[in-house]
Parts: sequence; structure tokens; C-alpha cells
Amino acid sequence: MTISVGIPRALLFHEFGELWQGFFTNLGVPVNVSAATTKTVLDRGTSLAVDESCLPLKLYLGHAESLLACSSHLFVPRIACYHRGYFLCAKFAGLPDIVRNTFGLGADRLIAPDVDGRRTLSGISAVRTAAAAAGRSTFAGLASLRRALAVWRARPRAAETADAKLAVIGHSYILNDPFLGGEVLALLAARGVATVTPDDIPARLLYDEARVFAPEIYWQLSAKLAGAASYFARRSDIAGLVMVSCFGCGPDSLMNEFLEERVLKGCGKPYAVLCFDEHTGRAGVATRVEAFWDLVEWRRRQ
Ligand code: SF4
Repeated sequence: MTISVGIPRALLFHEFGELWQGFFTNLGVPVNVSAATTKTVLDRGTSLAVDESCLPLKLYLGHAESLLACSSHLFVPRIACYHRGYFLCAKFAGLPDIVRNTFGLGADRLIAPDVDGRRTLSGISAVRTAAAAAGRSTFAGLASLRRALAVWRARPRAAETADAKLAVIGHSYILNDPFLGGEVLALLAARGVATVTPDDIPARLLYDEARVFAPEIYWQLSAKLAGAASYFARRSDIAGLVMVSCFGCGPDSLMNEFLEERVLKGCGKPYAVLCFDEHTGRAGVATRVEAFWDLVEWRRRQ
């Protein structure tokens, strides 16, 4: 049987997608990445998911469905955490089960390695699982991962300018999806506004910041957002902050309130909180973003 691996362009693809693609490509396995999000993908994901799902999970299912016909396998890792001392929200630990049950797939259609940053040998075990599912040896998998990691770690980061800028804070899978928070970044870019996001800053710096500022945070990605908010709020070149989240996210619903009280209200800079759902209209987003930037500019002139 000829193997091809489908990778949904959603959730942690936006952080590790190039690494995952490189891993399978180096093994000589064809990779299909789902196309950019469209309204159709979102609508399909919404109809497949249970109502309580967060919007990024609904999108994930829409992307996964689009790959079923063209891929022999789907790559759906089960990730508990990848930064020590934290846990990802339960959606990531349950992702292979959610996908399998949603589409009625046999276990042989999924490549679902367990990734658990707390366990020293978790990485090797995950490589063994992924390589074996693709019909390759562990040795070939480790060599492939090493090459993919070297490329991924050397990927260029956007250069920051010294100009005043807005910090746009949200999960990578929200800000890097042009259909969600990516729209906010595109609107600001169209107005010539420089922006900076958590992904422009080394992640370790943000986690270290969160450990000092709010050591009680349990969820890994919430800690990254908290570290980013605290870090950007005290930088003098940041003129304002925009928090972007999605409807249905339990951790964000707590974290946004927490950060408003602990960081945003007291930082002396304008801030806005935007929340996307299935029905968010593009005109409404544009109006709020432009009005917010006008406010920031007005404050800077005072
Ligand atoms: S952190 Fe929130 S948005 Fe992300 S997967 Fe979990 S519930 Fe969904």
C-alpha cells in the first residue's frame, strides 16, 4: 500500500507544521497539508463537532475531513505538553480519539504518537511510533527528525522595527490562521501599523516571564499568553495591546479576565479584547480594529 500523510492546517500545525512536514518528507513519505481555512471548512467543522467544542477544534475537524479522500493516513499527535511544568488543555490530549470517533476511522488510518515533555524518552518513543506507521525504522525516523529539526530551528523570525507598534496576543493557531486572528494582523498591516505577536519572541522568554508573574497558571498555552501580556505591557515601544481569542475556549475565558485585571487595566496603555466565533462578521472586526488603532493614535498625540 502506498502511504501518504495528511496534516490538518490547524491547532499546533501553526507552531510545528514545518517540522512535521520535514520529518515525513525526509522519510520519503508524500505529505498533504490541507488548504488555507475557508468558510466552507469552518462550516464543515462546525457541523462535525459537538456544540461545546472551541472554534479552533471545529476548524481542525474541517481540515481533517478535507484530507480523508487524498491521504492514506492522518497525522494527529497526542500532545500532553512540550514545555516542562505545564499541561496543554485536554483537547490536545484527546485529539486522536476525537478525530477517530468523529470520522469512524480505524486506528490504522491515524499516525498518533504520544508527546509528553515530562518524560525524557517521550520524543524517541514518538519518533518510533510515527516512523513505524510510515513503514520506516526508528533509526531512519531519528535521522529524519534531526534533519527536520535543524531546518525548523533555523527558520527566520520576522525582524522587529524600532517604531511604536501594537502587540497582538493570542494562540499561534488563531493569529496565524488568516480566517481568524490573521485577519486582525492583515487589517493593521494594511493601515501601515507595525505589530508584534508572541511568536516573534523566543518562547522560553515568555514562559520564564509567566513563571515569575503568575506561577499558579496550569495550562501551557495560557502561560505563554500571560508571559506575552506581561512582557509586552512594560515595553516602551508597545503603544497598545490586542488580545484575540476564540469562543468556546475554557482556558482563555479565565485567562482574559485574569490578564485584564492583573496586567491590562494597570499598564497605562490602550487595550482591546476580541473574540471570534462562527458568526463573526468581517466588517465588524474591521470596524473594531480600526477604531482601536484610531484611539491608540489619539492617545499618542496627547
Ligand atoms: S486552549 Fe482553548 S482554543 Fe486551544 S484547544 Fe484548548 S480550548 Fe481550544
